[in-house]
Amino acid sequence: MRAWLLNDTNGPGSYRLESIVTPEPGPGEVRVQLRASALNHLDLWVSRGMPAPHHFPHIAGGDGAGVISAIGPGVTTVDIGDEVVLNPSVACGSCHACLSGESPYCSSYGILGEHLPGTLADEVVAPARNVIVKPAGLSWEEAAAYGLVTGTAYRMLRRARLSAGDVLLIVGIGGGVASMGLQLGLAMGATVYVTSRDQAKIDQAVALGAAGGFDSSG
Ligand SMILES: [Zn+2]
Repeated sequence: MRAWLLNDTNGPGSYRLESIVTPEPGPGEVRVQLRASALNHLDLWVSRGMPAPHHFPHIAGGDGAGVISAIGPGVTTVDIGDEVVLNPSVACGSCHACLSGESPYCSSYGILGEHLPGTLADEVVAPARNVIVKPAGLSWEEAAAYGLVTGTAYRMLRRARLSAGDVLLIVGIGGGVASMGLQLGLAMGATVYVTSRDQAKIDQAVALGAAGGFDSSG
């Protein structure tokens, strides 16, 4: 398969498109033939060694959506041919941290494209519990852009103990995490305000449901 590989951490210019052996799923894992992958700022950080990948060559990319192309032993939740979205946060799913909703503290925690081989490739292997069926209304590109920013924004709002009726201020609207923070905040029942130096970004946020915005340069 083809993959965008890093062999060092000298920056984004180090990415090389190369052919490597297609990975096989182990017990409890699935392989996804990617139809779309999304870029994140994380892909720049990793290329600069912040953090450095655990192994070289490294496949970057946390986000993706595609079709199940192989399943490992014991997988019963999905089957070959299913259209799925990847959750890039990989954890054991059974330790105290995972069961209490704090999977980043799991001793086996890793993110696709950061600690684990990622999605900037034809295929990626992940635990079966890290894929969900792609909603029919989402395009491949929309589904692939969903995972990392949504998980990050959701964890931030949970840590802030956001609940219905709260007022939420999102500083710097327009990026992926901020945009998902707006939509999740609204879904959780909050009144959401935003800041930006760009009036067009504030207008877009209001169109998406924000109660108002403030010019952060003023
Ligand atoms: Zn765990």
